[in-house]
Amino acid sequence: MFKISNYINGEQAPPVDGNYIDNTSPINGEVYSLTPNSSREDVLLAVSAAKRAFSSWGSSTKEFRCRWLMKLANAIDGQLKELAVAESFDNGKPVWLAESMDIPRCSANIRFFASAITHFNTKAHEMDGGALNYTLKQPIGVAGCISPWNLPLYLLTWKIAPALAAGNTVVAKPSEVTPYTAYLFGKICQEIGFPKGVINIVHGYGSPVGEGVVENCDVVSFTGGTKTGALIAARAAVSFKKYALEMGGKNPAIVFKDADFDLAIENCIRSAFLNQGQICLCGSRILIEESIYETFKSVFIKRACDLIVGNPKDSKSNLGAIVSKEHLNSILSKIDLAKKEGGVILCGGNRVFLAGELSNGYYLAPTVIEGAKGSDTINQEEVFGPVVTIMPFKTEKEAIELCNGTKYGLSASVFTQNISRAHRVSAKLEAGVVWVNSWLVRDLRIPFGGMKSSGVGREGGFGSLEFFTETKNVCIKIEKG
Ligand code: NAD
Repeated sequence: MFKISNYINGEQAPPVDGNYIDNTSPINGEVYSLTPNSSREDVLLAVSAAKRAFSSWGSSTKEFRCRWLMKLANAIDGQLKELAVAESFDNGKPVWLAESMDIPRCSANIRFFASAITHFNTKAHEMDGGALNYTLKQPIGVAGCISPWNLPLYLLTWKIAPALAAGNTVVAKPSEVTPYTAYLFGKICQEIGFPKGVINIVHGYGSPVGEGVVENCDVVSFTGGTKTGALIAARAAVSFKKYALEMGGKNPAIVFKDADFDLAIENCIRSAFLNQGQICLCGSRILIEESIYETFKSVFIKRACDLIVGNPKDSKSNLGAIVSKEHLNSILSKIDLAKKEGGVILCGGNRVFLAGELSNGYYLAPTVIEGAKGSDTINQEEVFGPVVTIMPFKTEKEAIELCNGTKYGLSASVFTQNISRAHRVSAKLEAGVVWVNSWLVRDLRIPFGGMKSSGVGREGGFGSLEFFTETKNVCIKIEKG
Protein backbone atom coordinates (compact mmCIF):
# COMPACT_ATOMS: atom_id res chain seq x y z
CA MET A 1 0.00 0.00 0.00
CA PHE A 2 1.29 3.47 -0.93
CA LYS A 3 2.63 5.41 2.06
CA ILE A 4 2.31 9.17 2.49
CA SER A 5 5.27 10.71 4.32
CA ASN A 6 5.87 13.77 6.45
CA TYR A 7 7.89 16.60 4.93
CA ILE A 8 10.61 17.72 7.32
CA ASN A 9 13.70 19.81 6.61
CA GLY A 10 13.17 19.55 2.86
CA GLU A 11 13.00 15.72 2.86
CA GLN A 12 10.20 13.16 2.76
CA ALA A 13 10.29 11.63 6.24
CA PRO A 14 8.45 8.49 7.41
CA PRO A 15 6.99 8.73 10.94
CA VAL A 16 9.62 7.93 13.58
CA ASP A 17 7.51 5.18 15.20
CA GLY A 18 6.59 3.63 11.83
CA ASN A 19 2.85 3.84 12.59
CA TYR A 20 0.23 4.64 9.94
CA ILE A 21 -3.49 5.43 9.64
CA ASP A 22 -5.63 3.97 6.84
CA ASN A 23 -6.58 6.67 4.34
CA THR A 24 -9.94 5.96 2.70
CA SER A 25 -11.34 7.51 -0.45
CA PRO A 26 -14.96 8.53 0.21
CA ILE A 27 -15.65 8.07 -3.50
CA ASN A 28 -15.57 4.26 -3.23
CA GLY A 29 -15.07 3.62 0.50
CA GLU A 30 -11.72 1.88 -0.12
CA VAL A 31 -8.44 2.38 1.72
CA TYR A 32 -5.99 3.62 -0.90
CA SER A 33 -3.01 4.89 1.06
CA LEU A 34 -1.48 5.06 4.51
CA THR A 35 -1.01 8.33 6.40
CA PRO A 36 1.72 8.79 9.01
CA ASN A 37 0.33 8.38 12.52
CA SER A 38 3.03 10.75 13.72
CA SER A 39 4.12 11.20 17.31
CA ARG A 40 5.34 14.20 19.31
CA GLU A 41 8.84 13.20 18.27
CA ASP A 42 7.98 13.90 14.61
CA VAL A 43 6.56 17.29 15.64
CA LEU A 44 9.74 18.11 17.57
CA LEU A 45 11.88 17.18 14.56
CA ALA A 46 9.79 19.50 12.37
CA VAL A 47 9.90 22.32 14.93
CA SER A 48 13.67 22.12 15.30
CA ALA A 49 14.12 22.12 11.49
CA ALA A 50 11.83 25.17 11.33
CA LYS A 51 13.76 26.93 14.14
CA ARG A 52 17.07 26.37 12.34
CA ALA A 53 15.63 27.63 9.05
CA PHE A 54 14.18 30.71 10.76
CA SER A 55 17.63 32.20 11.31
CA SER A 56 18.05 32.76 7.56
CA TRP A 57 14.42 32.92 6.28
CA GLY A 58 13.38 35.30 9.08
CA SER A 59 16.15 37.75 8.20
CA SER A 60 15.85 37.40 4.40
CA THR A 61 14.56 40.25 2.26
CA LYS A 62 10.88 40.56 1.36
CA GLU A 63 11.95 40.38 -2.25
CA PHE A 64 13.64 37.01 -1.65
CA ARG A 65 10.56 35.56 0.07
CA CYS A 66 8.28 36.97 -2.60
CA ARG A 67 10.34 35.30 -5.35
CA TRP A 68 10.24 31.89 -3.65
CA LEU A 69 6.50 32.10 -3.03
CA MET A 70 5.85 33.10 -6.63
CA LYS A 71 7.90 30.11 -7.77
CA LEU A 72 5.81 27.86 -5.51
CA ALA A 73 2.54 29.31 -6.85
CA ASN A 74 3.70 28.72 -10.43
CA ALA A 75 4.64 25.13 -9.62
CA ILE A 76 1.15 24.52 -8.18
CA ASP A 77 -0.44 25.94 -11.32
CA GLY A 78 1.75 23.58 -13.33
CA GLN A 79 0.18 20.61 -11.52
CA LEU A 80 -3.38 21.94 -11.40
CA LYS A 81 -5.04 18.90 -12.94
CA GLU A 82 -3.12 16.29 -10.93
CA LEU A 83 -3.77 18.16 -7.69
CA ALA A 84 -7.47 18.57 -8.50
CA VAL A 85 -7.90 14.85 -9.21
CA ALA A 86 -6.02 14.02 -6.00
CA GLU A 87 -8.12 16.44 -3.93
CA SER A 88 -11.32 14.98 -5.34
CA PHE A 89 -10.26 11.38 -4.68
CA ASP A 90 -9.18 12.15 -1.11
CA ASN A 91 -12.08 14.43 -0.13
CA GLY A 92 -14.98 13.29 -2.34
CA LYS A 93 -15.66 16.66 -3.97
CA PRO A 94 -16.28 16.84 -7.74
CA VAL A 95 -13.11 17.17 -9.82
CA TRP A 96 -14.61 20.22 -11.60
CA LEU A 97 -14.90 21.98 -8.24
CA ALA A 98 -11.35 21.18 -7.15
CA GLU A 99 -10.13 22.30 -10.57
CA SER A 100 -12.09 25.55 -10.64
CA MET A 101 -12.02 26.52 -6.94
CA ASP A 102 -9.69 24.63 -4.57
CA ILE A 103 -6.44 24.40 -6.47
CA PRO A 104 -6.57 27.79 -8.25
CA ARG A 105 -7.21 29.31 -4.83
CA CYS A 106 -4.04 27.64 -3.45
CA SER A 107 -1.79 29.39 -5.94
CA ALA A 108 -3.87 32.59 -5.59
CA ASN A 109 -3.33 32.51 -1.79
CA ILE A 110 0.41 32.16 -2.22
CA ARG A 111 0.69 34.77 -4.96
CA PHE A 112 -1.50 37.20 -3.03
CA PHE A 113 0.64 37.13 0.14
CA ALA A 114 3.89 37.06 -1.85
CA SER A 115 2.82 40.38 -3.30
CA ALA A 116 1.16 41.72 -0.11
CA ILE A 117 4.38 41.54 1.91
CA THR A 118 6.06 43.89 -0.55
CA HIS A 119 3.27 46.46 0.14
CA PHE A 120 3.05 45.93 3.91
CA ASN A 121 4.03 49.05 5.83
CA THR A 122 3.95 50.56 9.29
CA LYS A 123 3.23 53.96 10.81
CA ALA A 124 5.47 56.56 12.42
CA HIS A 125 4.27 58.91 15.21
CA GLU A 126 6.08 62.20 15.56
CA MET A 127 5.82 63.85 19.02
CA ASP A 128 5.64 67.57 19.69
CA GLY A 129 8.26 67.33 22.43
CA GLY A 130 10.94 66.16 20.00
CA ALA A 131 10.65 62.41 19.64
CA LEU A 132 9.77 60.03 16.86
CA ASN A 133 8.04 56.67 17.28
CA TYR A 134 8.17 54.13 14.54
CA THR A 135 6.72 50.65 14.47
CA LEU A 136 8.48 47.48 13.37
CA LYS A 137 6.57 44.38 12.29
CA GLN A 138 8.87 41.43 12.78
CA PRO A 139 8.38 37.72 12.11
CA ILE A 140 7.51 35.75 15.23
CA GLY A 141 9.33 32.45 14.67
CA VAL A 142 7.78 29.07 13.93
CA ALA A 143 4.13 29.27 12.91
CA GLY A 144 1.86 26.29 13.58
CA CYS A 145 -0.81 25.99 10.88
CA ILE A 146 -3.62 23.52 11.63
CA SER A 147 -6.25 22.94 8.97
CA PRO A 148 -9.46 20.92 8.39
CA TRP A 149 -10.60 18.48 5.69
CA ASN A 150 -13.24 20.45 3.80
CA LEU A 151 -10.93 22.62 1.67
CA PRO A 152 -7.71 20.76 2.36
CA LEU A 153 -4.98 22.47 0.33
CA TYR A 154 -6.93 25.73 -0.08
CA LEU A 155 -7.05 26.37 3.69
CA LEU A 156 -3.57 25.03 4.37
CA THR A 157 -2.08 27.54 1.90
CA TRP A 158 -4.34 30.31 3.28
CA LYS A 159 -2.28 30.00 6.48
CA ILE A 160 1.14 28.92 5.21
CA ALA A 161 1.41 31.73 2.64
CA PRO A 162 1.05 34.77 4.97
CA ALA A 163 3.13 33.07 7.68
CA LEU A 164 6.01 32.58 5.23
CA ALA A 165 5.61 35.94 3.53
CA ALA A 166 5.92 37.63 6.94
CA GLY A 167 9.21 35.80 7.52
CA ASN A 168 8.14 32.95 9.78
CA THR A 169 8.91 29.33 9.13
CA VAL A 170 6.08 26.82 9.31
CA VAL A 171 5.04 23.50 10.80
CA ALA A 172 1.76 22.56 9.14
CA LYS A 173 -0.67 19.93 10.38
CA PRO A 174 -3.20 18.94 7.69
CA SER A 175 -6.35 17.04 8.59
CA GLU A 176 -5.76 13.32 9.05
CA VAL A 177 -8.97 12.80 7.03
CA THR A 178 -7.55 14.41 3.85
CA PRO A 179 -3.74 14.27 3.89
CA TYR A 180 -3.04 13.62 0.23
CA THR A 181 -2.68 17.04 -1.39
CA ALA A 182 -0.61 18.34 1.54
CA TYR A 183 1.75 15.44 0.84
CA LEU A 184 1.87 16.39 -2.87
CA PHE A 185 2.44 20.01 -1.84
CA GLY A 186 5.50 18.91 0.18
CA LYS A 187 6.78 17.06 -2.88
CA ILE A 188 6.35 20.19 -4.99
CA CYS A 189 8.35 22.21 -2.42
CA GLN A 190 11.06 19.57 -2.61
CA GLU A 191 11.05 19.51 -6.43
CA ILE A 192 11.51 23.26 -6.74
CA GLY A 193 14.19 23.29 -4.04
CA PHE A 194 12.24 25.50 -1.61
CA PRO A 195 14.71 26.43 1.18
CA LYS A 196 15.01 23.47 3.57
CA GLY A 197 13.18 23.58 6.88
CA VAL A 198 11.11 26.65 5.97
CA ILE A 199 7.99 24.55 5.33
CA ASN A 200 7.44 21.36 7.32
CA ILE A 201 4.35 19.15 7.22
CA VAL A 202 3.51 16.61 9.91
CA HIS A 203 0.57 14.25 9.39
CA GLY A 204 -1.46 12.50 12.07
CA TYR A 205 -4.19 12.95 14.65
CA GLY A 206 -5.07 16.11 16.56
CA SER A 207 -3.70 14.36 19.61
CA PRO A 208 -0.69 14.13 19.65
CA VAL A 209 0.30 16.00 16.45
CA GLY A 210 -2.01 19.05 16.65
CA GLU A 211 -1.39 19.35 20.39
CA GLY A 212 2.37 19.15 19.82
CA VAL A 213 2.14 21.88 17.19
CA VAL A 214 0.22 24.16 19.58
CA GLU A 215 2.68 23.56 22.42
CA ASN A 216 5.89 23.90 20.45
CA CYS A 217 5.25 26.55 17.82
CA ASP A 218 5.48 30.28 18.56
CA VAL A 219 2.15 31.31 17.01
CA VAL A 220 -0.87 29.19 16.02
CA SER A 221 -3.42 29.60 13.26
CA PHE A 222 -6.27 27.10 13.36
CA THR A 223 -9.27 26.38 11.18
CA GLY A 224 -11.67 23.65 12.23
CA GLY A 225 -14.50 22.85 14.61
CA THR A 226 -15.49 25.05 17.56
CA LYS A 227 -14.85 22.31 20.16
CA THR A 228 -11.31 21.79 18.87
CA GLY A 229 -10.80 25.56 18.82
CA ALA A 230 -11.65 25.73 22.53
CA LEU A 231 -9.06 23.04 23.31
CA ILE A 232 -6.43 24.88 21.28
CA ALA A 233 -7.21 28.23 22.94
CA ALA A 234 -6.83 26.63 26.40
CA ARG A 235 -3.52 25.01 25.48
CA ALA A 236 -2.13 28.16 23.82
CA ALA A 237 -3.17 30.32 26.79
CA VAL A 238 -0.77 28.45 29.09
CA SER A 239 2.21 30.06 27.34
CA PHE A 240 0.38 33.28 26.30
CA LYS A 241 0.81 32.33 22.68
CA LYS A 242 -0.82 34.34 19.95
CA TYR A 243 -3.57 32.36 18.19
CA ALA A 244 -6.26 32.84 15.56
CA LEU A 245 -9.26 30.54 15.38
CA GLU A 246 -11.57 30.10 12.39
CA MET A 247 -14.37 27.81 13.53
CA GLY A 248 -17.87 26.52 12.81
CA GLY A 249 -21.01 28.30 11.67
CA LYS A 250 -24.79 28.05 11.36
CA ASN A 251 -25.07 30.59 8.60
CA PRO A 252 -28.44 32.11 7.68
CA ALA A 253 -29.78 33.58 4.45
CA ILE A 254 -32.69 36.05 4.65
CA VAL A 255 -34.88 36.35 1.57
CA PHE A 256 -37.17 39.42 1.65
CA LYS A 257 -40.24 39.63 -0.57
CA ASP A 258 -38.63 42.41 -2.63
CA ALA A 259 -35.59 40.25 -3.49
CA ASP A 260 -34.62 39.37 -7.06
CA PHE A 261 -36.30 35.96 -6.83
CA ASP A 262 -34.16 34.02 -9.33
CA LEU A 263 -30.94 35.46 -7.92
CA ALA A 264 -31.98 34.48 -4.38
CA ILE A 265 -32.86 30.93 -5.45
CA GLU A 266 -29.59 30.53 -7.36
CA ASN A 267 -27.47 31.74 -4.45
CA CYS A 268 -29.37 29.76 -1.82
CA ILE A 269 -28.97 26.55 -3.84
CA ARG A 270 -25.22 27.15 -4.23
CA SER A 271 -24.69 28.12 -0.65
CA ALA A 272 -26.60 25.13 0.73
CA PHE A 273 -25.05 22.43 -1.46
CA LEU A 274 -21.69 23.48 -2.93
CA ASN A 275 -18.94 21.08 -1.83
CA GLN A 276 -21.73 18.87 -0.38
CA GLY A 277 -22.54 21.69 2.05
CA GLN A 278 -19.12 21.27 3.61
CA ILE A 279 -17.88 24.85 3.45
CA CYS A 280 -17.80 26.76 6.72
CA LEU A 281 -19.64 29.59 4.92
CA CYS A 282 -22.44 27.40 3.54
CA GLY A 283 -25.92 28.66 4.34
CA SER A 284 -27.79 26.10 6.42
CA ARG A 285 -30.86 28.16 7.44
CA ILE A 286 -32.97 30.00 4.87
CA LEU A 287 -35.48 32.51 6.26
CA ILE A 288 -38.10 33.56 3.74
CA GLU A 289 -40.63 36.39 4.08
CA GLU A 290 -44.06 34.88 4.60
CA SER A 291 -45.76 36.28 1.49
CA ILE A 292 -43.30 34.57 -0.90
CA TYR A 293 -42.64 31.50 1.27
CA GLU A 294 -44.77 28.96 -0.67
CA THR A 295 -43.49 30.08 -4.09
CA PHE A 296 -39.88 30.11 -2.91
CA LYS A 297 -40.33 26.71 -1.28
CA SER A 298 -41.70 24.98 -4.39
CA VAL A 299 -39.00 26.38 -6.72
CA PHE A 300 -36.21 25.71 -4.21
CA ILE A 301 -37.28 22.12 -3.61
CA LYS A 302 -37.52 21.41 -7.33
CA ARG A 303 -34.02 22.82 -7.85
CA ALA A 304 -32.60 20.89 -4.87
CA CYS A 305 -34.18 17.60 -5.95
CA ASP A 306 -32.86 18.07 -9.51
CA LEU A 307 -29.25 18.29 -8.33
CA ILE A 308 -27.17 15.32 -9.42
CA VAL A 309 -25.32 13.34 -6.79
CA GLY A 310 -22.84 11.38 -8.84
CA ASN A 311 -19.38 10.25 -9.75
CA PRO A 312 -17.04 13.11 -8.75
CA LYS A 313 -15.14 12.61 -12.02
CA ASP A 314 -18.29 13.40 -14.02
CA SER A 315 -18.59 17.10 -14.88
CA LYS A 316 -22.40 16.80 -14.65
CA SER A 317 -22.30 15.81 -10.97
CA ASN A 318 -23.36 18.70 -8.74
CA LEU A 319 -22.48 16.87 -5.54
CA GLY A 320 -19.82 14.25 -4.92
CA ALA A 321 -19.23 12.18 -1.78
CA ILE A 322 -19.32 13.18 1.89
CA VAL A 323 -15.78 13.17 3.26
CA SER A 324 -15.97 10.05 5.46
CA LYS A 325 -18.29 7.33 6.72
CA GLU A 326 -18.19 8.83 10.23
CA HIS A 327 -19.24 12.22 8.91
CA LEU A 328 -21.97 10.71 6.71
CA ASN A 329 -23.39 8.91 9.76
CA SER A 330 -23.17 12.06 11.83
CA ILE A 331 -25.17 14.00 9.22
CA LEU A 332 -27.78 11.21 8.96
CA SER A 333 -28.21 11.17 12.74
CA LYS A 334 -28.73 14.96 12.78
CA ILE A 335 -31.41 14.57 10.07
CA ASP A 336 -33.10 11.88 12.21
CA LEU A 337 -33.05 14.15 15.24
CA ALA A 338 -34.55 16.98 13.19
CA LYS A 339 -37.44 14.66 12.26
CA LYS A 340 -37.94 13.68 15.90
CA GLU A 341 -38.05 17.36 16.84
CA GLY A 342 -40.85 17.97 14.32
CA GLY A 343 -38.98 18.75 11.10
CA VAL A 344 -40.43 17.51 7.81
CA ILE A 345 -38.12 16.34 5.01
CA LEU A 346 -39.17 17.96 1.74
CA CYS A 347 -36.27 16.62 -0.31
CA GLY A 348 -33.52 14.03 0.26
CA GLY A 349 -32.75 12.95 3.81
CA ASN A 350 -31.25 9.66 2.63
CA ARG A 351 -27.96 8.05 1.67
CA VAL A 352 -27.48 7.58 -2.08
CA PHE A 353 -25.96 4.37 -3.43
CA LEU A 354 -24.21 4.80 -6.77
CA ALA A 355 -23.73 1.87 -9.11
CA GLY A 356 -20.70 -0.34 -9.74
CA GLU A 357 -17.34 0.46 -8.18
CA LEU A 358 -18.74 3.51 -6.36
CA SER A 359 -21.43 1.50 -4.55
CA ASN A 360 -19.57 1.70 -1.20
CA GLY A 361 -18.98 5.46 -1.48
CA TYR A 362 -20.45 7.93 1.01
CA TYR A 363 -23.09 9.82 -0.96
CA LEU A 364 -26.02 11.79 0.48
CA ALA A 365 -29.01 13.41 -1.22
CA PRO A 366 -29.39 17.20 -0.90
CA THR A 367 -31.77 17.62 2.01
CA VAL A 368 -34.34 20.33 2.70
CA ILE A 369 -36.17 20.42 6.03
CA GLU A 370 -39.28 22.44 6.89
CA GLY A 371 -41.07 22.94 10.17
CA ALA A 372 -38.08 23.09 12.51
CA LYS A 373 -38.22 25.83 15.14
CA GLY A 374 -35.38 28.32 15.53
CA SER A 375 -34.48 26.66 18.84
CA ASP A 376 -34.40 23.09 17.42
CA THR A 377 -31.04 21.34 17.28
CA ILE A 378 -31.02 21.38 13.47
CA ASN A 379 -31.18 25.20 13.58
CA GLN A 380 -28.68 25.52 16.42
CA GLU A 381 -25.91 22.99 15.78
CA GLU A 382 -23.63 22.83 12.76
CA VAL A 383 -24.40 19.86 10.47
CA PHE A 384 -21.70 20.58 7.87
CA GLY A 385 -23.40 18.66 5.08
CA PRO A 386 -25.90 19.17 2.25
CA VAL A 387 -28.72 19.92 4.67
CA VAL A 388 -30.70 23.15 4.88
CA THR A 389 -33.80 24.27 6.76
CA ILE A 390 -36.40 26.69 5.42
CA MET A 391 -38.50 28.92 7.68
CA PRO A 392 -41.02 31.72 7.09
CA PHE A 393 -40.76 35.06 8.89
CA LYS A 394 -43.19 37.98 9.19
CA THR A 395 -41.07 41.02 10.04
CA GLU A 396 -37.52 42.27 9.56
CA LYS A 397 -37.07 42.28 13.35
CA GLU A 398 -38.12 38.63 13.60
CA ALA A 399 -35.73 37.64 10.78
CA ILE A 400 -32.80 39.35 12.49
CA GLU A 401 -33.64 37.71 15.83
CA LEU A 402 -33.77 34.27 14.20
CA CYS A 403 -30.45 34.89 12.43
CA ASN A 404 -28.72 36.01 15.59
CA GLY A 405 -30.30 33.34 17.78
CA THR A 406 -27.43 30.83 17.70
CA LYS A 407 -24.03 30.70 19.38
CA TYR A 408 -22.37 31.09 15.96
CA GLY A 409 -21.62 34.22 13.94
CA LEU A 410 -19.59 33.39 10.86
CA SER A 411 -21.47 34.57 7.75
CA ALA A 412 -24.92 35.58 6.51
CA SER A 413 -26.60 36.51 3.23
CA VAL A 414 -29.34 39.09 2.74
CA PHE A 415 -31.51 39.18 -0.37
CA THR A 416 -33.41 42.43 -0.95
CA GLN A 417 -33.57 45.21 -3.52
CA ASN A 418 -34.23 47.81 -0.86
CA ILE A 419 -30.87 49.51 -0.34
CA SER A 420 -31.73 50.94 3.07
CA ARG A 421 -32.92 47.58 4.31
CA ALA A 422 -29.72 45.96 3.02
CA HIS A 423 -27.57 48.37 5.06
CA ARG A 424 -29.84 48.30 8.12
CA VAL A 425 -30.04 44.51 8.34
CA SER A 426 -26.33 43.96 7.55
CA ALA A 427 -25.37 46.26 10.42
CA LYS A 428 -27.56 44.30 12.88
CA LEU A 429 -26.49 40.77 11.94
CA GLU A 430 -24.03 39.06 14.26
CA ALA A 431 -21.75 37.69 11.56
CA GLY A 432 -18.16 38.39 10.57
CA VAL A 433 -19.04 38.35 6.87
CA VAL A 434 -22.36 39.55 5.37
CA TRP A 435 -23.16 39.16 1.69
CA VAL A 436 -25.94 41.21 0.09
CA ASN A 437 -27.59 39.61 -2.94
CA SER A 438 -24.70 37.16 -3.17
CA TRP A 439 -22.78 34.40 -1.48
CA LEU A 440 -19.10 33.44 -1.40
CA VAL A 441 -17.85 36.46 -3.27
CA ARG A 442 -14.34 36.52 -1.82
CA ASP A 443 -11.79 39.29 -1.94
CA LEU A 444 -8.54 38.14 -0.31
CA ARG A 445 -7.91 41.66 1.06
CA ILE A 446 -10.93 41.75 3.38
CA PRO A 447 -10.89 40.87 7.10
CA PHE A 448 -12.20 37.32 7.28
CA GLY A 449 -13.45 35.53 10.40
CA GLY A 450 -16.34 34.97 12.72
CA MET A 451 -18.01 36.42 15.80
CA LYS A 452 -19.13 34.56 18.93
CA SER A 453 -18.28 30.81 18.76
CA SER A 454 -17.26 31.08 15.10
CA GLY A 455 -13.90 32.68 15.57
CA VAL A 456 -11.24 34.63 17.36
CA GLY A 457 -9.33 37.22 15.34
CA ARG A 458 -9.51 38.06 11.66
CA GLU A 459 -7.33 36.75 8.86
CA GLY A 460 -7.12 37.97 5.28
CA GLY A 461 -5.21 40.75 3.58
CA PHE A 462 -2.84 42.74 5.75
CA GLY A 463 -4.75 41.31 8.75
CA SER A 464 -2.97 37.98 8.18
CA LEU A 465 0.40 39.73 8.00
CA GLU A 466 -0.46 41.62 11.20
CA PHE A 467 -1.28 38.31 12.85
CA PHE A 468 1.91 36.59 11.78
CA THR A 469 4.17 39.44 12.94
CA GLU A 470 5.19 40.82 16.31
CA THR A 471 4.67 44.56 16.73
CA LYS A 472 7.48 46.60 18.24
CA ASN A 473 7.54 50.34 18.79
CA VAL A 474 10.86 52.19 18.76
CA CYS A 475 10.91 55.69 20.29
CA ILE A 476 13.82 58.00 19.35
CA LYS A 477 14.42 61.16 21.37
CA ILE A 478 15.52 63.97 19.11
CA GLU A 479 17.73 66.54 20.81
CA LYS A 480 16.95 70.19 20.11
CA GLY A 481 19.57 71.70 17.78
P1 NAD B 1 -11.62 19.51 13.50
O1 NAD B 1 -11.69 20.57 14.52
O2 NAD B 1 -12.02 18.13 13.88
O3 NAD B 1 -10.10 19.36 12.96
C1 NAD B 1 -9.41 20.44 12.40
C2 NAD B 1 -7.92 20.19 12.58
O4 NAD B 1 -7.59 20.25 13.97
C3 NAD B 1 -7.45 18.83 12.09
O5 NAD B 1 -6.20 18.95 11.46
C4 NAD B 1 -7.35 18.04 13.38
O6 NAD B 1 -6.47 16.96 13.33
C5 NAD B 1 -6.84 19.10 14.33
N1 NAD B 1 -7.07 18.82 15.75
C6 NAD B 1 -8.02 18.02 16.30
N2 NAD B 1 -7.91 18.01 17.65
C7 NAD B 1 -6.88 18.85 17.95
C8 NAD B 1 -6.28 19.26 19.17
N3 NAD B 1 -6.72 18.82 20.36
N4 NAD B 1 -5.25 20.12 19.13
C9 NAD B 1 -4.80 20.59 17.93
N5 NAD B 1 -5.32 20.22 16.73
C10 NAD B 1 -6.35 19.35 16.75
O7 NAD B 1 -12.42 20.05 12.25
P2 NAD B 1 -12.78 19.26 10.92
O8 NAD B 1 -13.83 18.26 11.23
O9 NAD B 1 -11.53 18.83 10.26
O10 NAD B 1 -13.39 20.45 10.02
C11 NAD B 1 -14.71 20.84 10.02
C12 NAD B 1 -14.92 22.08 10.85
O11 NAD B 1 -14.09 23.12 10.38
C13 NAD B 1 -16.33 22.62 10.77
O12 NAD B 1 -16.76 22.97 12.05
C14 NAD B 1 -16.19 23.87 9.91
O13 NAD B 1 -17.17 24.87 10.13
C15 NAD B 1 -14.85 24.34 10.30
N6 NAD B 1 -14.29 25.24 9.30
C16 NAD B 1 -14.25 26.58 9.59
C17 NAD B 1 -13.76 27.48 8.64
C18 NAD B 1 -13.69 28.96 8.92
O14 NAD B 1 -13.03 29.67 8.16
N7 NAD B 1 -14.34 29.46 9.95
C19 NAD B 1 -13.32 27.00 7.40
C20 NAD B 1 -13.40 25.63 7.15
C21 NAD B 1 -13.89 24.76 8.11
